[in-house]
Amino acid sequence: MAGNGRWVTNALRHPDRDPTRRQLLATSQQPYGAVLSCIDSRVPPELVFDTGLGDLYVMRSGGAAVGPVITGSIEYGPMTSGTPLIVVLGHQRCGAVSAVYKALREGEPLPGNLQAITEALRPAYEQAVRESPADPAEAMAKAQVKLTADALRGNQDLAPLVTKGALAVVSAYYSLDTGEVEILNGAPA
Ligand SMILES: [Zn+2]
Repeated sequence: MAGNGRWVTNALRHPDRDPTRRQLLATSQQPYGAVLSCIDSRVPPELVFDTGLGDLYVMRSGGAAVGPVITGSIEYGPMTSGTPLIVVLGHQRCGAVSAVYKALREGEPLPGNLQAITEALRPAYEQAVRESPADPAEAMAKAQVKLTADALRGNQDLAPLVTKGALAVVSAYYSLDTGEVEILNGAPA
C-alpha cells in the first residue's frame, strides 16, 4: 500500500530493479505477496504497487477469474514458502466483467473459450444482481474479488494458514481514474 501511495503521488522509487537484486535472487526467491489481478493492460501489479524483482508472485486472468490452475498458482507461495499475503485485485471499468455482465443479462454466451470466464464470474454476477446497485458492472467487479478472496481464505489448504495468522487474503479495487488501490475485505486487524 505504501508503494501504491508512491504510484498515486508520482513518488516512485522503482525498488529492487538492478543487477545486484537480480544476482541476489538468482538461486532463490522469497516474495512477500501474491497478487491475482485482471489481464487489463492498465493494471500491472508490479507498477501500481511500485515493486520490483522478486517482490511479488503475479497471476493475471480476465476479470481475475479463477479455476484450478490459477488457484493452484496463487496457493503456491503461501503453501510452499510462507508467502504471508494474497491480494485479489479488481479494477474500475473492467472490460471482462462488463462483457460477462452483458452476456449473462442477455443470455448470449461469449464466443469460444471466453465462455469459461463467464462461468467463473457467474457467482459475482448473481450477487451484483441481487443487490440491484446503481452501477451493476462496478458492483459485480467488486463482488468478484470479494467472493474470490473469501473462497481462497476459506479453502482447505489456505484456511489453516489464515487461522494461524500466517496468511492474509485481501480483496482490493484499483481506480483507473486515480491510480489508488482500495482494500475491500480481509485486511488483518
Ligand atoms: Zn479487467
